[in-house]
Amino acid sequence: MAVLWLDDIGADDIGTVGGKAASLGEMWTAELPVPPAFVVTTETYRSFIEETGIDEELFATVDVSPEDSKALAAAAERAQALVTETPMPDDLRAEILEAFDSMGEDPSVAVRSSATLEDLEGASFAGQQETFLNVSREAVVDRVRECWASLFTHRALYYRREQGFTHEEVDIAVVVQEMVDADKSGVLFTSNPSTGVPEVTIEAAWGLGEAVVSGAVTPDNYILDRASGELKSETVAQKKVMFVRDADTGETVERAVPDQKRGERVLSDDELAELLETGELIESYYGQPQDVEWAIYDGDVYLLQSRPITTIDAAASEAAAGISDGGENGDEPGELILSGLGATPGRAAGEVRIVRKLDQLDKVEQGDIIVTEMTTPDMVPAMKRAAGIVTDEGGTTSHAAIVSRELGVPAVVGTETGTEELHDGQLVTIDGEKGTIEAGGEPDPPAAEEAVEEARPETPVKPMTATEVKVNVSIPDAARRAAATGADGVGLLRIEHMILTLNKTPARYIADNSKGEYIERIVEGVRAVADEFYPRPVRARTLDAPTDEFRQLQGGEDEPREHNPMLGYRGIRRSLDSPDVFRHELDAFRKLYELGYDNVELMLPLVNDAEDVLRAKRLMEDVGIDTEKRTWGVMIETPASALAIEGIADAGVDFVSFGTNDLVQYTLAIDRNNERVADRYDPLHPAVLELISHTIEVCREKGVSTSICGQAGSDPQMVRYLVEEGVTSISANIDAVRDVQHEVKRVEQRLLLDSVR
Ligand code: PEP
Ligand code: MG
Repeated sequence: MAVLWLDDIGADDIGTVGGKAASLGEMWTAELPVPPAFVVTTETYRSFIEETGIDEELFATVDVSPEDSKALAAAAERAQALVTETPMPDDLRAEILEAFDSMGEDPSVAVRSSATLEDLEGASFAGQQETFLNVSREAVVDRVRECWASLFTHRALYYRREQGFTHEEVDIAVVVQEMVDADKSGVLFTSNPSTGVPEVTIEAAWGLGEAVVSGAVTPDNYILDRASGELKSETVAQKKVMFVRDADTGETVERAVPDQKRGERVLSDDELAELLETGELIESYYGQPQDVEWAIYDGDVYLLQSRPITTIDAAASEAAAGISDGGENGDEPGELILSGLGATPGRAAGEVRIVRKLDQLDKVEQGDIIVTEMTTPDMVPAMKRAAGIVTDEGGTTSHAAIVSRELGVPAVVGTETGTEELHDGQLVTIDGEKGTIEAGGEPDPPAAEEAVEEARPETPVKPMTATEVKVNVSIPDAARRAAATGADGVGLLRIEHMILTLNKTPARYIADNSKGEYIERIVEGVRAVADEFYPRPVRARTLDAPTDEFRQLQGGEDEPREHNPMLGYRGIRRSLDSPDVFRHELDAFRKLYELGYDNVELMLPLVNDAEDVLRAKRLMEDVGIDTEKRTWGVMIETPASALAIEGIADAGVDFVSFGTNDLVQYTLAIDRNNERVADRYDPLHPAVLELISHTIEVCREKGVSTSICGQAGSDPQMVRYLVEEGVTSISANIDAVRDVQHEVKRVEQRLLLDSVR
């Protein structure tokens, strides 16, 4: 049998139908209203390659070294052609079409890959294989073969080998599922996602679900009490657009919602009652709260997907269930002993460990508070173990601040005297919001949940905003936490951490190892993030480390001694001066593109004018990066670059991004790392805002998109200013993403209201 119907599929059938189909089969068996589907099994894929005799050639073709990019690209192309150009054997074709025909007269279906390696732990292959919507009878067999062929894309081949799988052992099934031509659709949370309270939250809009999921529309919001069925609150939104299937082409298209339906309530009381009941069924079937995508067509409710909600924390659900722990636990933290700048919010208690030299890092144990002059990339493993971080030096854009935010570890920076006033073994409580260090406290037990879960939004549904909200990443290890925020992509991926942790300057590393290895280290680091976000865009920046940071590495003795490294040999000026090293970074980007990472964007730091940009562009082209095809841009970090924006835009950039950490220091002459002048460091200074406003205005005229990736992008006041000025996207810290989404939404709605009043 070439196909199986959902009736015959359960959770144990991953080997025959892949992960996606197995979970659909489960929902079907539970008699949840899932649209009918059949699955072209993994055995059918096997019979296809074996019966047609292409298997040997196929596996011989892809047996090339993953490091040989060109050979791998050629192999991927040949293998995919072999699959898509080999005719489907008649018996398999007949069975697929017979199953298709039994779905009704001329149905429209979604064809989705369901691979056997899809969601295995530690190997996220999600999103690597094809999906096709609105597929007709004529196309269905071809689409199935295209799903099979997507096992052999350049990226999939490389990734599989990297993860230690052989190409022969991977199987693929294909789900062919009736499309629900939804009249209305949305999402449903069977319990409150942050408190666990038994109330159902439903978001609804007109047409297909893409409008709600992609954020193109602000949906209606309804909250119902599960016990009484009472509607506790409802917010009916103005729904301007909807996604529908075009009657002629069958494609999904965006349409304006007719005037009279825009402000109309999407769901009737009966429909709300039915969704409430369906929510009960799903939660009791799975035994835990679920996040569900639903659609209503012709009065019937369908479920398209269900996933567990992972954000409810134990304390909250106990409180929701009326369980009390009988009172306060632990001492009241005592007297204030020191203060600095709050860098990463959160309170943490633990024993102080003073770290003056790197060989003292071993003394930092799980749950300790690291106290040091300033953190360095070598300290990151110890920072991960720590409950909190305190530094003498630095401002809110220093290494300690940036990294601790990504790790989600509370931090106070710039205390000036922390390493002198505190002592080893002293019990303290730090508050990373207020910037205080108090005596005593009660250390928390080791966290049961992974930091990834903390980063997940607690509020039910991602606020829909026209301005994109992205996230900053500096350590590839933080990519999962960053992706869990639901951000629209990465607005800044710094590659410095990847390079500084090589422990050698780039020149020394290349001399001691090889340029190939250097390139590979960059590819690996960027790829870890690009995979986590694929297909959401990831803006990776070429190297921008000042000479004092390089000096601490092997080979650092050859670095120039500079009076003021912040004004010295860093960013694009160094890259243009030493094009040999820079070329290897560009080689890494080229390789990423060859591997199929079309979501990677290239960003150049610290440019001053069009000449800097054009020289870098020539080098990009020299190494074989197609600057017309790839998305690339520059940071606006110096007043010169803001004032020279016309020429920079004309040089062909697709985007610019405000690096306010530097833009503020260069505009106001305030060293960003000097805690003595930190109180004068003001990203909202009128001079800085003037430069930003001018840049946005020119870029809008020239069709160049604008963004911010400095720390100020996490500040609600700056967010308000930028959205009002018309910025295209905002990139925030992991912990700030959700608040920024809400702030952006509030400002956008106010602007809309103002425009119609
Ligand atoms: C900036 O200057 O705002 C920026 C994001 O770059 P960095 O902090 O790495 O200098
Ligand atoms: Mg900068």
